[in-house]
Amino acid sequence: MTSTVRAKPRDPRLFPASVVSSTRLTPSMQRVTVRGEALRAFPWRGYDHWFRLFFRHPHQERFHVPEVAGATWWKPYLAMPDEARPYCANYTVADFRARTGELDIDVVVHRGAEGAIEGGVAIWACSVEPGEELALLDQGVMFEAPADASSVLLVADESGLPAVAGILRSLADGTVGRVLQEVPTEADCRALAGPPGMRVDWIPRADPHAVPGAAALAALRDRDDVDPQGYAFVVGEQTLATEGRRHLHRAGMPKDRITFSGFWKTGRR
Ligand SMILES: Cc1cc2nc3c(=O)[nH]c(=O)nc-3n(C[C@H](O)[C@H](O)[C@H](O)COP(=O)(O)OP(=O)(O)OC[C@H]3O[C@@H](n4cnc5c(N)ncnc54)[C@H](O)[C@@H]3O)c2cc1C
Repeated sequence: MTSTVRAKPRDPRLFPASVVSSTRLTPSMQRVTVRGEALRAFPWRGYDHWFRLFFRHPHQERFHVPEVAGATWWKPYLAMPDEARPYCANYTVADFRARTGELDIDVVVHRGAEGAIEGGVAIWACSVEPGEELALLDQGVMFEAPADASSVLLVADESGLPAVAGILRSLADGTVGRVLQEVPTEADCRALAGPPGMRVDWIPRADPHAVPGAAALAALRDRDDVDPQGYAFVVGEQTLATEGRRHLHRAGMPKDRITFSGFWKTGRR
């Protein structure tokens, strides 16, 4: 039904770009659109294609492009002096238009107990001006359904929504399965394009102070129809990813049919 698509670039390229616009997509999601001449050649593969995002810290006068030599970027990045080393975080391609060299990044606007926006990228995304320079380092695709997968299960909190939306859009038309998608509020649910056989269950959080991912994990544990011949992709807060995988494996799904990734960890800076 679906073939394996996992692809990690051996020689990842860095793509310079600048911000075109930043707009609120839903109450908890800010869409930043970036454009760059080099981005026209971005090797977009759909699915959950992700990248490292670099931009300048608020205290830095200008953006210094990190040095990337093949897969080696971390050491030279860390070796940059504080006043030059840019911010770095992991994000998913929400949409890509090769003709114009434009790429959309959907950033979760996460908030602290007092309601203030938290997180370096969320703060940046909600205040960035057009023209701000940045760079993207291609990291490829994690989604890896075996060719014989009889169904696809996608489970995520809001940080995994861009990945889920991208995977749904990329799946073959005849794919069947289910999505368990947690979001902060009812108003964050939106139409997602995908195969008609993929049922999408939105899970708005009932308690605004609950740890993201807990409701999606509970919904997953409630299910007693795990398909051992299927494939599962579980991403979001660390506990959702690790406990979700544990649950699926105990329910009979082999580990090599489960892709899981802790996209972030609650309370960690
Ligand atoms: C492969 C991959 C793809 C990803 N794609 C996306 C994407 O497309 N969109 C997206 O929004 N995120 C995405 N993430 C998650 C994102 O990288 C993390 O949320 C990251 O912590 C944000 O960086 P930051 O520097 O702003 O957060 P930090 O400044 O490190 O975090 C600050 C505070 O915010 C909390 N926090 C961080 N993220 C969240 C969150 N999502 N919800 C609630 N609280 C949070 C932290 O626990 C911490 O207390 C992805 C992660 C991975 C690994």
